[in-house]
Amino acid sequence: MKVTEHIKKANGRTLFSFEILPPLKGQHIQSIFDTIDPLMEFKPPFIDVTYHREEYTYKELENGLLKKQVVKKRPGTVGICAAIQNKYQVDAIPHILCGGFTKEDTENFLIDLDFLGIENVMALRGDAVKSETYFKPEKEGHQYACELVSQIQDLNNGQYLDDELQNTSKTDFCIGVAGYPEKHMEAPSFDSDIHFLKKKIKKGASYIVTQMFFDNKKYFDFVDKCRSEGIIVPIIPGLKPIAIKKHLNLIPHRFKTDIPDDLIMAIVKCKDNAEVRQVGIEWCVEQSKELIKAGVPLVHYYSMGKSTNIKAIARQVF
Ligand code: FAD
Repeated sequence: MKVTEHIKKANGRTLFSFEILPPLKGQHIQSIFDTIDPLMEFKPPFIDVTYHREEYTYKELENGLLKKQVVKKRPGTVGICAAIQNKYQVDAIPHILCGGFTKEDTENFLIDLDFLGIENVMALRGDAVKSETYFKPEKEGHQYACELVSQIQDLNNGQYLDDELQNTSKTDFCIGVAGYPEKHMEAPSFDSDIHFLKKKIKKGASYIVTQMFFDNKKYFDFVDKCRSEGIIVPIIPGLKPIAIKKHLNLIPHRFKTDIPDDLIMAIVKCKDNAEVRQVGIEWCVEQSKELIKAGVPLVHYYSMGKSTNIKAIARQVF
């Protein structure tokens, strides 16, 4: 079922959903099931599975020269989605990127998803590869997520890259896109970021999932701004509980997300990461409760491959 249909069916009740990462190459799929199993009692209507593009590594050769290698450390997004739908009978939502994909790769990826009965996709640009400063699309790929949304929408209209194909089958994907309550890190201004977010919706996206935030006011202001710009699709808040002290620096650095001073101070005072984890859970519970009271359609949790803290939060909230 489409995300928009799940929301409609819930009839105003806030739903619980979460995102998982494919395991590192070499690990068994059981590690995914071990993350999902404890969360199934909260009846997620769907589970997101992230996509991880290739990385460059350098191997030293005997002669001292370095050999560049391209590796995908977390492959398996599509296979995991199929396994989730098969094992749990809930919708799995694969993330799909511009980065590392030509338009042809994208089309073939979408055909696989369609054949597997996957009805939703989360369309993202992706970040620059780790060794590069700026995002570079493939030669025959997309520069921005709005172009990817267009391609998915074309396929929904039965328009394939080869326009000589006749009597084509139409896909019927519901498309999600990312939104940034604190502005995307590369956007020159908040207004320009909203402008391009609106473009993704115009091209065919049906819902937005936000980047993590720790201050609900940022989410509420973002929603107000989107509404005033005519963006009327559901805006699903994404939350992540802080779990280790290192997150205090990692999260602002990696996601350009601010952490409120009260939360920082509470974490700084913690003796160890067990205490940090508890503070992170309590903060996230309060955020979730306030969002639910405000009538959000869904609260979406970033599990980062660990379900124990998400379970502790969901128990108090759902
Ligand atoms: P875009 O919407 O393309 O925006 C990127 C930047 O370009 C923004 O600054 C925007 O303002 C600007 N822009 C957009 N369109 C135009 C235009 N036409 N002209 C000029 N400027 C423009 N990354 C992964 O690698 N894998 C994942 O699975 C993944 N999942 C995510 C899930 C969520 C909910 C979120 C919020 C992020 C996720 N990301 C993931 C990270 C995401 O790929 C990065 O944040 C990336 O830097 C931007 O992606 P985007 O789709 O928002 O890009």
